[in-house]
Amino acid sequence: MNYEIIVVGSFEVNCVVLWKDPRAAWVIDPGADPEVILDFLHKHEMGVALYFLTHGHIDHVSALDALLAAHPAPVHLHAGDVSFAFSSLNRFPPYFSVPARPASLVPTPVDAPPLTAGGITADRLHTPGHTPGCQCLWFKEDKLLLSGDTLFAGSVGRTDLPGGCGKTLQLSLRRLTALPADTLVIPGHGPTTTLAIEKRDNPYLAE
Ligand SMILES: [Zn+2]
Ligand SMILES: [Zn+2]
Repeated sequence: MNYEIIVVGSFEVNCVVLWKDPRAAWVIDPGADPEVILDFLHKHEMGVALYFLTHGHIDHVSALDALLAAHPAPVHLHAGDVSFAFSSLNRFPPYFSVPARPASLVPTPVDAPPLTAGGITADRLHTPGHTPGCQCLWFKEDKLLLSGDTLFAGSVGRTDLPGGCGKTLQLSLRRLTALPADTLVIPGHGPTTTLAIEKRDNPYLAE
């Protein structure tokens, strides 16, 4: 599996493009700068099989509209974040206005089966805490985890925003640290890391 991390927007979100077949790429967290993401897709003659939002926060969803216009595909977001994500609460002036709810939205139910498209399969791990509908993508074969705003290198997602809960986040983090230590982690912001490094150095993961 191939992937590219494209850092987008004022909040420096890691938008990740994953593919085996370039005609059926996955686009994770298209948060801003649609022209940059579109340029990458165009250069590599890619099509989009699906969009996946690790959670509904505005900085992770704001390029969707423009991308969908060029590359229509299903948009996956956990059901727990759907009502918030497309409401007037989800904006951050002057950077972001309220996103439109995509016609191709597929809310992820609780206990969702693995997501499969374009020859790629990932488990969807529901990891609430930063928001009620946070999900991580776990690519077992590649030992790759896209951790969204649940786990960062040296830190974790804040829980003081609406819908956040510190105790719930702790349970979610335990779920992630149970994965193999040599798992590569691409967080929603900041540098990549591994679970081994985080278990050793991340103060929020201390028992
Ligand atoms: Zn967030
Ligand atoms: Zn974020």
